[in-house]
Formats: sequence, structure tokens, C-alpha cells
Amino acid sequence: MAFQLIREWTGIQQFPSATQTKLLELLGKLKQENVSTLTILVMGKGGVGKSSTVNSIIGERAVVVNAFQAEGHRPMMVSRSRAGFTLNIIDTPGLVEGGYVNDQVLEIIKRFLLNKTIDVLLYVDRLDAYRVDTLDKQIVKAISDGFGKEIWRRGLVVLTHAQLSPPDGLSYDDFFSRRSEALLKVVRQGVRMRKQDTQDFIPVVLVENSGRCNKNESEEKILPNGTAWIPNLVKTITDVVLNGSKGILVDEKLIEGEDPNQRGKLAIPFLLAFQLLVVVNRIKKWINDDIAKEPSPYWA
Ligand code: GDP
Ligand code: MG
Repeated sequence: MAFQLIREWTGIQQFPSATQTKLLELLGKLKQENVSTLTILVMGKGGVGKSSTVNSIIGERAVVVNAFQAEGHRPMMVSRSRAGFTLNIIDTPGLVEGGYVNDQVLEIIKRFLLNKTIDVLLYVDRLDAYRVDTLDKQIVKAISDGFGKEIWRRGLVVLTHAQLSPPDGLSYDDFFSRRSEALLKVVRQGVRMRKQDTQDFIPVVLVENSGRCNKNESEEKILPNGTAWIPNLVKTITDVVLNGSKGILVDEKLIEGEDPNQRGKLAIPFLLAFQLLVVVNRIKKWINDDIAKEPSPYWA
């Protein structure tokens, strides 16, 4: 693995003290559970706010945000440490190009992740989008095929641009629940999960990266429903890490393209052949034993 520079997480001091207190409390909770490193992978389409979200969590401009230009083709890992705790966030290029999922980008991301364990997946999209389509399903499927469906047990859907006025007279909460239900449906289809699984396992969290985000009396950035979103996002990440599932180790096998959802299934023909041999031999033996035990008929 290439040498990775880990800097002190000074950006945390940029947050208002109410946010700092909550974040340090959450880091303390993780350390209590023996989690001292967290590696977060951020993926999604281009331009949805992945890089901005990375910067918001870290509290500094660590990665490039660009409204009009395509992102670079390389993932980038930002590492920060604080009181014995290390946070790694991996920003990635958008998975969609020219209306298709770019498999090459996915390959580059996988190679970049070699020998790393993904603790959390942030699947980023915008709150202020009104439609989901087959492309969304294909992205989810590509992620599942690349890393195994289990990655979604460590997944969160992050919706940016959360400071909006809903259209058509919908209330904010109604709009949010409709948008998240539509997206979760697509995730379920892409992962081929049953409904109850995604509802239990995949939380949807709101993010507003804009500098014009409203604030509460403690100077914390808040959503239209009053939630201070940075502590809320980190709290949800903590919950996902502690939900009893395992992080995803990206090893050579995964990179070489062995379908992670087929692991173990390759052995099925061998197991069948083995069982057949054992069973057939056992039956043959019974028959032979029976023949041997049979008293000889009088004509013999
Ligand atoms: P990426 O391509 O997914 O990494 O997206 P970027 O983080 O580069 O963001 C693309 C554009 O959207 C930039 O102009 C950002 O300033 C803007 N942006 C990102 N997140 C938000 C958000 O939550 N609210 C608003 N208003 N703009 C955002
Ligand atoms: Mg970006």
C-alpha cells in the first residue's frame, strides 16, 4: 500500500462548539466499541455533491469541488486523526458518464481500495431530483456486483441539496419520504433485496453543503426541519458501523472479478459430485452386503 499521510483532524475545530461536542462524543462511542479507524467510501453520479460532502464532514476544503467540470478520474483518500481515532474518507469520480455506468471508473476505484476495508458506503444523490430511472438501478447493481451486496448493510443513502422548498404544495417531510422511498425502491431492485431488508438496513440522511445553509442559535447548520445535519450524519454513520455487520475487505479476489455474490456457489457442483459418490457407494455396499447375507437357494 502506498504511504498515506495522516494529518491531525484540525477541521473539527471549525465546527461550532455544539457540533464539536457531539462529534467527539460519537468518536468516543466508537472507541469504546474498539473502533479506532473508520474508512468511508463515497460514491454516486457526477455532480451530486460527493466532494462537497467529504469537505463538509472533514470541516476543510480537502478535495476539489467543481460545478461545471467533470471530476478527475482518480479516487482520493483524505485521512485525519484525532485523539487516537483515524478517519479515512475516499472521494471518487462519478460512476456515470454519457448516460452509462462507467465500468472502468468502478475498476479504478476497486484497485485503489486494494487491501483496504470499507467500513461505510455513502451513496450520494440529490434530494431535489424528482425522478429515478433505470440508470440509478444500474449504478446500484454495479456497486453490488463490484463489492458484493453485503456492502449495502454498511450503506447510507445521502441526499444533498436538502435546503429546498418542495413543489406541488407538499410538506418537507412528505417530499423527503417520497423521494427516499423512490430511491430505496431502486436500491432494492438493484441489490435484489427484499423490502424489509432495505428498510431495516439502509438509512437515508439529508445534507446541505451550501454556504447559505440555515443555522440554529448555536451556529450549527440545520435542515428545514431544524435538524443539525453534520452531527446527525455522523451519528447515523456510527449506528451503521455498530449494527453488527462486517466491513468489506477489498482483496485480490474481489479485484480479479470473482463475483462476490457467487462466492461459495462455485463449490456446489463439487459438493454434489462428492455426495453422489458417497451415497452411491453406500447403496452399492448395502446391496452387496444383502446379497452376501442371503442364504443360498436350494438349487445353488
Ligand atoms: P461531485 O461531482 O459529486 O463531487 O459534486 P461536487 O461536490 O463537486 O458538487 C457539484 C456542485 O454542486 C458544486 O457547485 C457544489 O457547490 C454544488 N453542491 C454540492 N452539494 C450541494 C448542496 O448540498 N447544496 C447546494 N446548494 N449545492 C451543492
Ligand atoms: Mg467530486
